[in-house]
Amino acid sequence: MAENPPRIPSMNEILESCAQRGLESFGREACRAACSRALDGVRALRKAGEPQAGVDAAFWTQVSAFLQVLPSLQLRGAINATGVVLHTNLGRAPWPQEAVDAAAAVAGASLCEIDRKTGGRGRRDRPVSELLARVTGAEAGLPVNNNAATVLLAVSALARGRKVVVARSELVEIGGSYRMPEVIAAAGAEMVEVGTTNRVHLKDFETAMEDPAVSLVLRIHPSNFRIEGFTTEPAMQELANACHARGLPLVYDLGSGVLNGTELGGLENEHSVQKSLADGCDLVTFSGDKLLGGPQAGLIVGAKPLVERLRRDMLTRCLRLDKTILAALEAVLSIHALGNAAACARIPALQRLALTTAQLHATASQLADAINRAANGFCAGVMACAGRVGSGASPTADLPSAGVLVHHAQRDAEQLAQWLRAAEPPVFARIQDGGVLLDMRTVSSSEQLLLQQLFENAS
Ligand SMILES: *Cc1c(COP(=O)(O)O)cnc(C)c1O
Repeated sequence: MAENPPRIPSMNEILESCAQRGLESFGREACRAACSRALDGVRALRKAGEPQAGVDAAFWTQVSAFLQVLPSLQLRGAINATGVVLHTNLGRAPWPQEAVDAAAAVAGASLCEIDRKTGGRGRRDRPVSELLARVTGAEAGLPVNNNAATVLLAVSALARGRKVVVARSELVEIGGSYRMPEVIAAAGAEMVEVGTTNRVHLKDFETAMEDPAVSLVLRIHPSNFRIEGFTTEPAMQELANACHARGLPLVYDLGSGVLNGTELGGLENEHSVQKSLADGCDLVTFSGDKLLGGPQAGLIVGAKPLVERLRRDMLTRCLRLDKTILAALEAVLSIHALGNAAACARIPALQRLALTTAQLHATASQLADAINRAANGFCAGVMACAGRVGSGASPTADLPSAGVLVHHAQRDAEQLAQWLRAAEPPVFARIQDGGVLLDMRTVSSSEQLLLQQLFENAS
């Protein structure tokens, strides 16, 4: 016969237990709020088919976590063992430690918008804007909320109520319903499409530019797809010359936008920001959390008069960045300013791309040995595997890597993956060959130790 579900005590009884457990220092009101939230969890568990859930050890762990706040947060750190270096769902680029420290250092009062010399008002984006110009060689820079916002801002500031020329082959949709035609429409401009899906010629652009209502030519990096075969497009330099002969600005949405590390595996076909400027693009836009390796941001660099027009646009105020993000960006750009070798060594996203398969095999066999030594039902082996850059860079290119393939005597691959996601910190891996595959390219050395402990302490 099924047991009766345990009785749920009254709130007064529960608050009594809070006192006995030494939780009253958080205050009676906070205890009540935490217990009430934990009770909602108990009711949800019972509804989901766990009638034995009650005011038990798990309940009190929850209450304590709610009172301490940090242990209860849903948005928390995780281990990326997928081999996708810039994994959008796992938060894209891992920040360098300098960026983490810089963000924390300005959480309180800071020099956010104040001029230290005069004590008067300052511009919050000035340090980042100056570094952007220094690192890319552009006349000026401007940071906003994300790269999606840079295109909206550029079109709005330079072509609102007028026309924008775009190649049909570049009318991309980025994840999360960001579609180029809709962005241009939202910015209040009319789109003039030129060329066909696979081919666009300089002549197509030139013909469209004859319309006096055109005030901008926009090119977009086809980040997340490739058109192969019978294709053509004009060289950026040719197009820039044609634009400038007609006094029209050329804006290039680069997406990932490599500053340093162009020689790294997987990035051979990416266009660098510096090269795009040298080719004559008037404004180049790119993300902060892709190959730049920092926080979410949209970065605009290029000709000073155009950057100033964007800066003065009302949208710029709506798209401005928080002081902590600006501090993290300043730290990341300061590392880039030290040159290519420093950037590749100190920015985790680039570091990970620079790892050789020999290095990855070595760390994979360390972890596999540790898992096999633990001998609690797991069986691990090293295997060659393939990851990705992610976030739209080189979408069709594999990143040769090494991983640890783990099987368990009693659990199938799906159960193993679920167990890993429920671990602390949560671990995300690939399911492959009937087991889970931990790709070592995206696992830091401290995370490798955490993984090791996780398998050692598993029961
Ligand atoms: C990623 C990407 C975007 C969007 O950038 P976010 O920083 O994610 O807003 C826009 N355009 C291109 C070409 C991209 O690759």
